[in-house]
Amino acid sequence: MKGDIPFRGIRFDSVTVAYDGNVVLDSLDLTVEPGEVMALLGPSGSGKTTALRAVAGFVRPASGRVFLGGRDVTDLPPYRRGIGMVVQQYALFPHMRVEENVAFGLKAQKVPRGEIRGRVAEALEMTGMAAYGRRYPRELSGGQQQRVAIARALAIRPGVLLLDEPLSALDARLRSGMLAELARLHRELPEVSILYVTHDQVEALTLADRIAVMDRARLRACGTPRELYRAPANEFTASFVGGANLLPVTVGEQGVRFGERRLEVSGPVPEEAAVLCVRPHLVGLGDGPNRISGTVREIQWRGATHRLYVEVDGHRVIADLRELKEPPAHGDEVTLHFSPDDAVLLTAGARHD
Ligand code: ADP
Repeated sequence: MKGDIPFRGIRFDSVTVAYDGNVVLDSLDLTVEPGEVMALLGPSGSGKTTALRAVAGFVRPASGRVFLGGRDVTDLPPYRRGIGMVVQQYALFPHMRVEENVAFGLKAQKVPRGEIRGRVAEALEMTGMAAYGRRYPRELSGGQQQRVAIARALAIRPGVLLLDEPLSALDARLRSGMLAELARLHRELPEVSILYVTHDQVEALTLADRIAVMDRARLRACGTPRELYRAPANEFTASFVGGANLLPVTVGEQGVRFGERRLEVSGPVPEEAAVLCVRPHLVGLGDGPNRISGTVREIQWRGATHRLYVEVDGHRVIADLRELKEPPAHGDEVTLHFSPDDAVLLTAGARHD
């Protein structure tokens, strides 16, 4: 979309938000670069929406500042921040036609009437809703309503787009289609910074340039999806971003030990390392480096893969294996292995179950 970009990038500078003395966002420091998609990922109640609302101006930080494009907007009212926002429940005006809904923000901004028509058409075109301008929201499916909500947010040509669980009201099939649509919109609007709140790791991994992992009011980790998946900074991130085997280990002069076994790990050894993280798809069946043996407790056929749940000294190890011709049976003893390059040592901490 052409036109002036009012600002670029988002910066949280030690932003704290409290409700009735309860801190729900604790000293958040985070920068979303111009044109970047940042996912705020975390369980329900971790403070994601609160962070988004602080950017929009709907909650006032108890301390800290919010910057948009280098400008301190902490004291600006929401309507002066030039932000597009889309929430889970679409929030369309039921008594207005689609085109009136999309025009709403433009009228509020006092965009000249002659310009509004073209801007509305452009936004509806971008979201594939050009044919629906005369309809009322009740005449649209959930997915179409969400497209209109996105069109409404884009019509004001925001420099920043805030998306709060925009797909969670849609069914699974529509969700994956809309995810692809959002990725396309981002490619068409490379200058718009997007902050995307979700508790769904697939959405975050698919769409985001970087993911900020939130847990109990705090930022736990921030990095590219690959960084967080391959080398999570802590146990919480490992358990929340992708499935993870988290094995208790001791690290000392005798190397890394899991029970009686000695394991080889190529990567760095953090101070007080106590947990070994291996992704289930990186665990192999049969002999190899870092072999561990145990009893098959469950086996699931998932089409292209078999998932094995193996009990090793009272710990559960999950292996996702390419479909096996002769899968082991429940109760069988099996040997698993993983490469030293695929194991990551972590300090023990909170994990997400
Ligand atoms: P998330 O988006 O990660 O689910 P929220 O930011 O919505 O989390 O909420 C964080 C915490 O703040 C929750 O414990 C929630 O109950 C609380 N909270 C959110 N909004 C309000 C409010 N208006 N008044 C009081 N508590 C609130």
